[in-house]
Amino acid sequence: MTATEGNNLLQAPEPLTDIGVNLTSNRFDNCRNEIIEQAVSSGITRMILTGTSVKESEAASTLCQQYPENLWFTAGVHPHDASQFDKSTPAALKDLAMETACVAIGEAGLDFNRNFSTSEQQISAFEAQIELAIETGKPMFLHEREAFERQHEMLRYYRDQLKDAVIHCFTGDKKSLFGYLDLDLYIGITGWVCDERRGTELQELVHNIPLDRLMIETDAPYLLPRNMTKKPKDRTNRPAFLPWILLQISQCYQKEALELARRTRENSAYFFNLPPESLNDQTKEKIHDPVSDFYRL
Ligand SMILES: [Zn+2]
Repeated sequence: MTATEGNNLLQAPEPLTDIGVNLTSNRFDNCRNEIIEQAVSSGITRMILTGTSVKESEAASTLCQQYPENLWFTAGVHPHDASQFDKSTPAALKDLAMETACVAIGEAGLDFNRNFSTSEQQISAFEAQIELAIETGKPMFLHEREAFERQHEMLRYYRDQLKDAVIHCFTGDKKSLFGYLDLDLYIGITGWVCDERRGTELQELVHNIPLDRLMIETDAPYLLPRNMTKKPKDRTNRPAFLPWILLQISQCYQKEALELARRTRENSAYFFNLPPESLNDQTKEKIHDPVSDFYRL
């Protein structure tokens, strides 16, 4: 991967899938198309847009229609928004889940860190979304913060009925990592792992994730990777910055970025049941000579 001089972009060594992009965020209001096109030409050819509420999931669905070869979305209600989860929500989510571009239920889970919704509201919204995932046969895109015990218990109870699930933006400790892996879940790693202040524990843990359970994500516009040589002035993370996360993870595993790129891409395609990818010549041309570039960095 090369960092072009004076630029903060690294070319991906192989097409990548960013499994968590909050592309409907108002921080992208004036540049959404540019952000998508920049990502695709940096080799991030597939992005899964995170649905955090019915409204955001609907907006994500609309955006996916514009870029059917590059974008898919999840439909769900984030634990912060669980207080808005009402009687009409399951039906609205189910309608979204029926769309071909909808590849998972979520972002759902428990967040006892900030408790924007009460724990009771979070648990009942989470349970309803687990049931919806079971009913629709879709995998789950999960969030968890300071709620490992309860979330693990709920997932263990339903695990044999659930197709698959990924703990997105994993930032927990060894116990929670192994607890989730024991339930045969996937783990999503963000730029948290690039953070030299609060990501060190994760840096040491990450190699424990079996390569067939690892996926990567930017969680853009949040969590700008702190290993970037030149950070953008606006501090806004973009899906095009995903290779920086790949670079950090390859150092943690002491494995080639190319191998991790391939594995995470394959895992994402399998997990989200994405169609086979046909790269156009333009994209193919841009993803060039990856291995040697990577070592020049
Ligand atoms: Zn999250």
